[in-house]
Amino acid sequence: MENLTPFYDNTITDGFFNINTQQEFMSDREKNQLMHTLTTSLDLNELGDIVFAELKNRLNALSFKVSSPFGNFQFGTTDKHLVVKTYDLTANHDGSVKIEYGFVRSLSLRETQLLKDLNHCIRNPLNNALQFLQIQKLALKDSLTSLGNRRQFDETMEKATSRAHRNGESVSLIVMDLDKFKQVNDKFGHAEGDKVLMSVAGAINQSLRSSDHAFRFGGDEFCCITTDTDKEANELIVQRIQEAVAADSLLQKHGISVSFGLAMLQPEDSQSGFFNRADEALYQAKQAGRNCAKWA
Ligand code: GH3
Ligand code: MG
Repeated sequence: MENLTPFYDNTITDGFFNINTQQEFMSDREKNQLMHTLTTSLDLNELGDIVFAELKNRLNALSFKVSSPFGNFQFGTTDKHLVVKTYDLTANHDGSVKIEYGFVRSLSLRETQLLKDLNHCIRNPLNNALQFLQIQKLALKDSLTSLGNRRQFDETMEKATSRAHRNGESVSLIVMDLDKFKQVNDKFGHAEGDKVLMSVAGAINQSLRSSDHAFRFGGDEFCCITTDTDKEANELIVQRIQEAVAADSLLQKHGISVSFGLAMLQPEDSQSGFFNRADEALYQAKQAGRNCAKWA
């Protein structure tokens, strides 16, 4: 027997509807076309532009947002007074990845069905783009400490130095090397040495502003890029790292100390010249007896 029971959805403007009147509002050809277009890129910003254009065209959407642990992507207005429809994008529905569609008014039943069709088409391409983004991010991380790796350092340096040469913004480098770290490996084993490296990474991280960047180059060598800082601010960061190292029980147990080399970007500096000056200052700190900081 047919089920003619009316359902009510208060988020839909034409309230009561009959389950049997539900139809599909995108033809299979249109869905295939959209899905095909979305396979042309793995870049979330490019996909977002395509999806938002489709949403504007078909549903007068004003905003489209993807929220994920790897970043948030907003298209259209950020106006808070929109009627928002939210969908979970993850297969296990843990809510960690969400899509939000913003409209100026509540959707009609037909429009809601169309939105569901669109949402169905974009799920897989967006998930693929997010996985790609995650892999890209992992490729820039040091696997032991989760700090940026050498590759990310090069990219960040490139951006920071070209912005500084363009706008006159200050950029500083703090390079660090643990003192007599080899002894920890020799006496307590490589695994204990790894724990020490992780604790040092934590001490560095907690000493920086969110706008500064920390990296591990491999071995026991670390580096920070700070922007918009003067000499005093960089010395304060060094002091904070020293205090955090001294306060860590594992680092205390192994008597870990750190030597620092600092340099501020000069107009005539190339990227490698800048790094070499900071590295030379680090060498001077080692020569001066370790556990100290020297400026280039
Ligand atoms: P110095 O004060 O002159 O820096 O002395 P040091 O003993 O710290 O010498 P150096 O910086 O040259 O030693 C780095 C050591 O780091 C050598 C290597 O055994 C160790 N090492 C490199 N990578 C890793 C790693 O991933 N894990 C561990 N546990 N040790 C590492
Ligand atoms: Mg060392």
